[in-house]
Amino acid sequence: MTAKHTLPEKLMLSYAAGTLPEAFDLVIASHLSLCDESRIGVEAYEAIGGTIIEKEIPVSMSPGALDRCFGRLDGQAPRPKSGDAVNAVFPKPLRDMIGGDIDTVNWRSIGRGVKQAIIETEGRATVRLLSIPGGVEMPEHGHQGMEVTLVLQGAFKDGQDRFARGDIEVATDDMDHQPVAEDGDVCICLAATENPLRFNSFVPKLLQPLFRI
Ligand code: ZN
Repeated sequence: MTAKHTLPEKLMLSYAAGTLPEAFDLVIASHLSLCDESRIGVEAYEAIGGTIIEKEIPVSMSPGALDRCFGRLDGQAPRPKSGDAVNAVFPKPLRDMIGGDIDTVNWRSIGRGVKQAIIETEGRATVRLLSIPGGVEMPEHGHQGMEVTLVLQGAFKDGQDRFARGDIEVATDDMDHQPVAEDGDVCICLAATENPLRFNSFVPKLLQPLFRI
């Protein structure tokens, strides 16, 4: 499967280089197990990185080198690893991290039917599971640094864009938004943030320290 919203190249490179905080690694590893195109992209960067390290020479990449590498890897997406549960909601990296699937999550209510479960990781960045009932709007907010959100069930809309299972949304400092869960199925997301969000209204701001969001 390939998601409609795939991982930006800059994040493919950072992930392949292993320079991201653990919170972001978890979201991206989970996305990669749901999206062939992003996985092939990361593998291409890893292959280039491996070649550079092996040869121990400073390399300036020729134009089109990455495209050629992508071309070689195209169509060679690895099959799901044996033992991976076909019907699981959570991708394997997430199941491994929390020790189970969606039925093992210890949800905590954060109001308006929205629930979260923070996953403990190393470093300052945080990662959480969010469960948002269909039709519910998240509070409008901005960001201090990067926010990466992966949809695992249901869908949400953000402006004109729609994000469904496997899709990843990357938000940065210069972007304020208000994602809205699509009517119907509960929307389950895995979201990592570099720093606390900037809320524009009073109540979320007040509750922010309590929910570590
Ligand atoms: Zn956001």
